[in-house]
Amino acid sequence: MRKAHVGVPEPSSRFQNAKCSSCGEVQVVYSHATTRVNCNSCGNALATATGSKARIDGEIVGSAEQG
Ligand SMILES: [Zn+2]
Repeated sequence: MRKAHVGVPEPSSRFQNAKCSSCGEVQVVYSHATTRVNCNSCGNALATATGSKARIDGEIVGSAEQG
């Protein structure tokens, strides 16, 4: 296995589909969001910034890679 991403501490950063635990709305949340992300539908917190990798409060239902 060769390291293709030397210098990137968290190569798993990506956009993910997070399902709101409150209303079930699914929206894209960046795994390393630096600000709190709220559900567009009900305002429930979907992701909370922790300083490095955001804590996803909703249920991850898949990735949403862009590009
Ligand atoms: Zn919601």
